[in-house]
Amino acid sequence: MRKVSIFGATGSVGAQTVDLIRRAGGAGAYQVVALTGGRNIALLAEMARELRAGVAVCSDPADLAALRDLLAGSDVEAQAGVQAIAEAADRPADWVMSAIVGAAGLVPGLRALRHGTTLALANKESLVTAGPLLMATASAHGAHILPVDSEHSAIFQALVGEDIAAVERIILTASGGALRDWPLEALANASVTDALAHPNWAMGQRITIDSASMFNKALEVIETREYFGVLPDQIEVIIHPESLIHSMVGYRDGAIMAHLGAPDMRHAIGYALNWPSRQALPVARLDLAQVATLTFRAPDLQRYPALRLAREVIARRGLSGAAFNAAKEVALDHFLAGHIGFMAMAGVVEATLTAVDGDIGPEIGGLALEDVAAMDHLARIRAGEIARRAAGAD
Ligand code: NDP
Ligand code: MG
Repeated sequence: MRKVSIFGATGSVGAQTVDLIRRAGGAGAYQVVALTGGRNIALLAEMARELRAGVAVCSDPADLAALRDLLAGSDVEAQAGVQAIAEAADRPADWVMSAIVGAAGLVPGLRALRHGTTLALANKESLVTAGPLLMATASAHGAHILPVDSEHSAIFQALVGEDIAAVERIILTASGGALRDWPLEALANASVTDALAHPNWAMGQRITIDSASMFNKALEVIETREYFGVLPDQIEVIIHPESLIHSMVGYRDGAIMAHLGAPDMRHAIGYALNWPSRQALPVARLDLAQVATLTFRAPDLQRYPALRLAREVIARRGLSGAAFNAAKEVALDHFLAGHIGFMAMAGVVEATLTAVDGDIGPEIGGLALEDVAAMDHLARIRAGEIARRAAGAD
């Protein structure tokens, strides 16, 4: 029986992974080694009982006693804390889903790769902060990384059987997010609720806001660079409001391979779960006559400064991805707390990149985890200072 673990099982991607495993036969079809969650221990315990997981791990040690109570009478072991989450990744598994949100997802993914485990990677922050380290670890241990971000899954699928040298460009599609039709002048006053009204995708709160600001697409541009090793000029972003084309690969003969499907993350999760084969998935089928039109427009960089910043990060590489991600997370926290406006997030990130520039250092071979962690820490401090100043000025 295939052994699987899910990190971030209680989140949006995690729960959809659990759903696919359940539909494929649950504990009768898979041996679930570990499930991890954050604060939602009720859901974690329910999933762990249902799938008869070996261990359930929550992020906060203060929740351990309650998690134990919830698992009482089952065979599921209860654990808690950052260290316990990392150790869960050392438990032998064939396939691991990395779906913790934020920088906290990096270490468990790395640990799984060190065991040669196939890593289904939803946690894009891992690649943005430590892409060269992650890819080098996978190749040193003969491990596969399977993209779960829908765009990168689409690209990965459009590359099957092709020579990467024949790729001319990669075209990332973007929905444009909740605020894409707002006048530019109004964006400064957009609220959290406004930014959460995503037109097509139902996702976690943070990524939905990142979608409206296109910080999500900025992360994905960097992710594309790290996954596929293409040059920055080969990566294009196009707004495609219908979100039916999940991304495209353009080849040197002018052909474009596109991946189409309903906007349902279970496409990408299911492809990674069943890879290299394809299995039936419970996703809606597209009725193209009903769809009738697919539309596209170029992104306006004034509206989406995050896209410009992503290019700077790719040019710099090294630790600039770690700085970018940390600053973005802090800026988002301040926006969510109502301290700074929607458009001020990009200003905080840009000023942070400038503030830590001297500490980014030149690109010298691989990255060390300690350096990534140190840059993450430094950038969070600087971004916090900058965001507080911006809040005072608002
Ligand atoms: P959610 O916020 O829905 O879920 C995040 C998961 O991580 C939850 O299980 C949460 O636990 C857990 N978690 C949060 N903080 C910590 C922490 N400090 N330590 C350990 N666990 C923690 O996020 P999504 O599912 O939306 O996203 C997960 C990842 O996938 C992100 O990197 C995102 O960018 C990426 N992604 C998501 C897509 C989507 O459609 N949602 C699409 C493409 C990529 P709990 O809820 O119990 O607190
Ligand atoms: Mg995506």
